[in-house]
Amino acid sequence: MDTFVSCTDAVPHFLGLFDLGVAPSLLYYSYVPIIAIALFLALYIVKSDQGSFRSKALFAGTLAFVLWVLNIILQWIVVHANISMFLWQVTAIIEIFIPLSFLYFFYAFAGNERPPKFVRAFSYTSIELVALLLPTHFNMRSFSIAYCEAEVGPLLYVIGIIELAVALWILITAFWERNNARYTKEQRRQISFLAIGSAFFLSIFSASNLLGLVTTEYQINLFGPIGMLIFLGFLAYMIVTFKTFNIKLLATQAFVIVLNILIFSQFFFIQTTTNKILNTLTFGAALLIGIRLVRSVKKEVEARETIEGLAKKLAASNTELEEANEKLKKLDQQKSEFVSIASHQLRSPLTVIKGYLSMFLEGEPMLGDVKHGTVTEKGAEVMDIMFQSTNRLVHIIEDFLNVSRIEQGRMKYEMSDFDVRHMAAEVVGELTAEAERKKLTLTLEDKTPTSSYMVTADSGKIRQVIGNVIDNSIKYTQQGAVTVSLERRGNEAIRIAVKDTGIGISPENLKNLFQKFSRASNAGKVNVTGSGLGLFVAIEIIKAHGGKLWAESEGEGKGSTFIIEIPLKK
Ligand code: ADP
Repeated sequence: MDTFVSCTDAVPHFLGLFDLGVAPSLLYYSYVPIIAIALFLALYIVKSDQGSFRSKALFAGTLAFVLWVLNIILQWIVVHANISMFLWQVTAIIEIFIPLSFLYFFYAFAGNERPPKFVRAFSYTSIELVALLLPTHFNMRSFSIAYCEAEVGPLLYVIGIIELAVALWILITAFWERNNARYTKEQRRQISFLAIGSAFFLSIFSASNLLGLVTTEYQINLFGPIGMLIFLGFLAYMIVTFKTFNIKLLATQAFVIVLNILIFSQFFFIQTTTNKILNTLTFGAALLIGIRLVRSVKKEVEARETIEGLAKKLAASNTELEEANEKLKKLDQQKSEFVSIASHQLRSPLTVIKGYLSMFLEGEPMLGDVKHGTVTEKGAEVMDIMFQSTNRLVHIIEDFLNVSRIEQGRMKYEMSDFDVRHMAAEVVGELTAEAERKKLTLTLEDKTPTSSYMVTADSGKIRQVIGNVIDNSIKYTQQGAVTVSLERRGNEAIRIAVKDTGIGISPENLKNLFQKFSRASNAGKVNVTGSGLGLFVAIEIIKAHGGKLWAESEGEGKGSTFIIEIPLKK
């Protein structure tokens, strides 16, 4: 017994349930591809945006939309009144999910992990209300079994209005947020785009539904989903700007799928066997060509990606080369600078030596007669000056050699265990004569006399550093005192502080003191012959030992303190 009541004008020649002839052909030609493209895009985005909340929201919206469209198609073609009435009745609950999902998607897209509380509250309430009103007159006043058509209640109108409201809501929020500092310019553009696309879809969708309801010309409803195409267009544009996946491949795939679905859908209409055979052939050919097309586009896209990758690499190596070239140029410049400074430095002591030697050779009576083995007292003094100049030359050359060793990473350190207390006392002893000559008091203090001052280091180089710092203090102090104090800093390091009452260092000069050739402007006045290399070499040596070297000064004329820290023997 047939418990189903048939709609009067329908002939169920498809599976005994559907009459495919009654629906307007626009139904198939507009809805089927839209469903296919929408589902395809939504799936693609879920896949590429890996389970993010926003992709889920978009998927939910698309799914609700697809269900809604399917529901409408079924309403058109189903021949049994019971099923038709059921389908009319559930429209509202399916439809409410569409605007809500778009709202969720918009909020998720605008950077919220989840939509704000009021949005969620609004959504839950709407869904609950619709669900509650579904079996009431609010949803459906009456149903004509004969025509399989319902006289709908106000619920669908309300949902239509909700859709319009959500469209407006999204637009206003996007407008409101457009200057929010947390978005980049690019994001702002995407958000506005998305808002416009969503609002467009929702308003066209809602308007066509409402118009269909008011006029009961339900064919008008068919135009609603065309808004979905617009939304999809916006989405596609964004996908291009996202560059998360390739639009060309995507478009080809969508095209092939839609084409095949359309050809396949012909099977529902055609009656004659010849047409069926022809359509089978067409379908097979379209499928094959489609697959080949997608494959070739994929290959092309891959090739392009490889080329783009190569181009990027090329650009990167180009910049690397440019940088290397810049570095070389700089090095070259430094080298010429070095040569020029070095020759300057070497020339003055050499000129002194050469001048005096020529005086000796010319037999200057004031100096004595070297050819006959006599040297006057003045001659001996001059010899001492020549000896000091030679010494300076040796020092300068030693500094140059050290600088080049440091820069080429060839500085060798011969490590051994030794006592810094002992070394400091020796160095101070050696320099006492020089300090006395300048009438300075040079003293050595020991703040932690009972502790061990053993370190593992290159003793020659550490001696050079300590000597250099104390020597500088004597050089740059015209009166007063130089105090060297030793102190053990816990179990970490030994500190050697050299404090003087000399010319001091200005804050700007403090910054560059340890750079190559750096000499403060006030240095020349008291010690014309510095090279500006000593402290550079010193700090490099100390750093190589894992220690520290720095200077402190209250300013020019206020004395300076140089502090050396060397790690203790472990
Ligand atoms: P040099 O002494 O040969 O010029 P250094 O590298 O030893 O080179 O020192 C660099 C600069 O640091 C000096 O030219 C001087 O301006 C400044 N300087 C070093 N020691 C002192 C000090 N004790 N007091 C004031 N200035 C100093």
